[in-house]
Amino acid sequence: MSLHQRIGQGIDFHRLEKGRELWLGGINIPSDKGCIAHSDGDVLIHAICDALLGAAGLRDIGFHFPDTSSEFKNIDSKILLKRTVNLILEKGYHIINIDSTLCLEEPRMSGYIDKMCSTIAVIAGIPSNAVAVKATTTEKMGFTGRGEGIVAMAVCLISELMPDR
Ligand SMILES: [Zn+2]
Repeated sequence: MSLHQRIGQGIDFHRLEKGRELWLGGINIPSDKGCIAHSDGDVLIHAICDALLGAAGLRDIGFHFPDTSSEFKNIDSKILLKRTVNLILEKGYHIINIDSTLCLEEPRMSGYIDKMCSTIAVIAGIPSNAVAVKATTTEKMGFTGRGEGIVAMAVCLISELMPDR
């Protein structure tokens, strides 16, 4: 018997630069540095998009939203997530849950986690408790530890069957 469930994984990296806005999980976070990117640089949403696309066998974010296209210049990554979710639904899948982790030295994320989860959940059309965002520093080690960049990782589960909520 097939369970009709598929798992997906995504990872994204962006360089940080002083004087840019920091967008993570669809919200603006006060910071003296933000991500360098063609879009708004929301590394967390990008990792989630890749997890969803991977689960559905739909290539990756760069394939659907190329950074060579002016259409996506400075685009709000929430729009990319919405379009990704629509691709998943069009393929006949439902999103069961999304789990994710941010790696960055600062600012501290604890005060923003709930808002990120609810923002992502609304776009994904799933309950807030089906979205998890975690954050860790790398103990001052490596490029994240030196504040040169951010890493985001995400996994998701999708199903052909409607989930029991
Ligand atoms: Zn990205």
